[in-house]
Amino acid sequence: MAYENWRKGGWLLCCLLAAALLLIVPRAGISAQDSALDLTEAEKNFIREHPVIRVGIDPLFAPFEFLDSHGKYTGIAPDYLALVSAKTGLRFEPAVGVSYADAQKKVKSYELDLLPTLGWTEEREKDFLLSQLYYEYKLAFVVREDSDIGDIYDFRGKTLAVQGNTSNADFAFSYLHAGLSLYESEEEAVLAVADGRETVMLGYLPSVLYSIRNLGLPNLNYITFDSENNNGWHMGVRDDWPELRSILNKVFSAITPTEKSAIQARWIHLVSGRERRQVLSLRLAGVSVVVLLTLLVFIMRKVSSHRKRIARHRQNETALQEMVRQRTAELQSQTRLAVEASRAKSVFLARMSHEIRTPMNAIIGLSEVLLQRDLPSDAADSVWNIKQAGISLLSIINDILDFSKIEAGKMDLVNADYMFSSLIHDVENIIRFRLAEKPLEFITNVNARLPGKLRGDMVRVRQILLNLLSNAVKYTNEGSITLTVSGTSEKQGEILLSFEVADTGIGIRSEDIGKLFDSFSQVDSQKNQGIEGTGLGLSISQNLCRMMGGEITVRSIYGEGSVFTAVIPQIIADERSFELQAKEVEAARHDAGKRNIGFIAPDARVLAVDDSKVNLTVIKKLLEPYKMKIDTCISGEEAIVLVKSNSYDFVFMDHMMPGMDGVEATAAIRKLECGKTVPIIALTASAISGMREMFLENGFSDYLSKPIDLAKLDKLVAAWIKEDLKVQKN
Ligand code: ADP
Repeated sequence: MAYENWRKGGWLLCCLLAAALLLIVPRAGISAQDSALDLTEAEKNFIREHPVIRVGIDPLFAPFEFLDSHGKYTGIAPDYLALVSAKTGLRFEPAVGVSYADAQKKVKSYELDLLPTLGWTEEREKDFLLSQLYYEYKLAFVVREDSDIGDIYDFRGKTLAVQGNTSNADFAFSYLHAGLSLYESEEEAVLAVADGRETVMLGYLPSVLYSIRNLGLPNLNYITFDSENNNGWHMGVRDDWPELRSILNKVFSAITPTEKSAIQARWIHLVSGRERRQVLSLRLAGVSVVVLLTLLVFIMRKVSSHRKRIARHRQNETALQEMVRQRTAELQSQTRLAVEASRAKSVFLARMSHEIRTPMNAIIGLSEVLLQRDLPSDAADSVWNIKQAGISLLSIINDILDFSKIEAGKMDLVNADYMFSSLIHDVENIIRFRLAEKPLEFITNVNARLPGKLRGDMVRVRQILLNLLSNAVKYTNEGSITLTVSGTSEKQGEILLSFEVADTGIGIRSEDIGKLFDSFSQVDSQKNQGIEGTGLGLSISQNLCRMMGGEITVRSIYGEGSVFTAVIPQIIADERSFELQAKEVEAARHDAGKRNIGFIAPDARVLAVDDSKVNLTVIKKLLEPYKMKIDTCISGEEAIVLVKSNSYDFVFMDHMMPGMDGVEATAAIRKLECGKTVPIIALTASAISGMREMFLENGFSDYLSKPIDLAKLDKLVAAWIKEDLKVQKN
């Protein structure tokens, strides 16, 4: 009995020893510190100075390297790294959370140090210091069992499913000349073959086997082959650390076949005959076959339940990845649509600007022509009003254009000298004109000691001021509007202007004040019914103000009125006071109605081309004081005929015309012998930046925008008319 007990105890001890041996054998080499590496001083120093190596990982590349269900970095490559650790003391830290593509970039930029599973490509050889081959594998084609493909040559020219971003993908493309269907991971490519979405996939034999087993796919066959390439993994070291590469190479050379087969056996249950014999002899030396089998069954059960868990986890992960891919595709297509819509919006705005600006040119231009005449004063008033109305209509169009420019970040500010008094005067006039229909008092309080000349973007300052005042007019029905202009000078040569617009209007609820500066937002819509507006003015004004370094603030009592204050810094261009200069401006304004033209050119001959007859009348009237001969025509084709048969001193050419447009007509004229040198001035209503360059590049001599600015027109005529044609006026 005692003997029996002893025998049982001995047997049990044997089993335990065998189990311990079984668990230890595959990892035997990992824990052994190897002193036979014969490291150089430089390599030893390197290890001292860089005890921790940051590793860029592929979290989905089982069994080579991957994150297990607990998020632990594991696989064949990490086992090799563990051997390196055991033999050198270096510690390897996986960069979890970095995608594999990013990891490759980060090793190039030295944010990470090592990539453990790199197949050889020419490009990688340039980018990284590649270690010697430490792990070899075969490639495998995977097909379904029912497939009639039996030879790898049957695959040539077919579409191969393959994991993207791998050397296999390069190989399939360049050597097999196969069409590629790219997948995020090999596992997905294997699945695609199993469920019939793909006919054949190319992968690494170890990972293919691993996937087939993990996913429990019974219906697949695989055909292995050796390519001419060296199939195996190198470790890729950042290119400034040659010591690390040489350390790795020394360790890899020192790894024993037993250590290698232990790793292989741990991940791939497919070992070569020689390796199998070595493993078996080790195992048989320790335990009996019965114990081994019992233990194996036990371990297999554990492993298989663990694997099932991983497989479930992987399936969830695959489903999740599929969802992410679908969402990404949706988002990409939505982004594409949004970009297209935005482009369509810009084209629409450009067209609209042109379409509306052209008739505006006629209205404003003809009013200008009439104002040059000695009209009875009431008629002159009406014409003046028509002109102002035209200008304010233009300003709405400009609002929309401005808004889209600000949105696109393409709003440029001008920095030029301007008469401050003139700006205030203009603004006052426009507002008084608007107030004509309302019983409102308009009070202006302008500090007369403010500088007369400033430098900045006058048009934009005026735009802000007009917006605040126009709103005051719109939202006030009785009482008064007060404009107070003052300034403080905190920096030498600079003034902080303050424009305060106070009204006794409907006021704004305190809860609405925060929404005022949002684009397209109109608050208190009940009370504002019937009041025109786009809800863009304050948003544009606030943006412009901020671009100039200023700010708009608002105080309001609902039902009593509001005070909007715009504070804008400007450079002082002339210290002389506002008051003094206001007088000078008034004097200049007095004879502004008549143009001061210094010459006439009765022998000059001009051609004006525009598809709009009204525009032709406008340009003819504007050129009348020069007494030139003016021919007109309404198309590019006619213009070419006229240039051939007459000698013109210059041509005004409209840009947009039906049929042949101004750019095409100019190109055709420039090809004519007689049209090579004639100055051609482009006329355009388009308000888009970059137009000037476009015209000059297309053979035009200069450019004039519509509505035509008289001063610019006179400057152009003076510049382009030949001197011998000018007859000085007395
Ligand atoms: P809109 O073109 O509609 O006037 P704004 O951006 O200039 O657009 O103004 C936005 C909104 O702010 C207006 O719709 C109005 O509700 C409110 N608002 C602006 N100025 C005043 C004011 N002086 N008094 C009362 N409400 C105002």
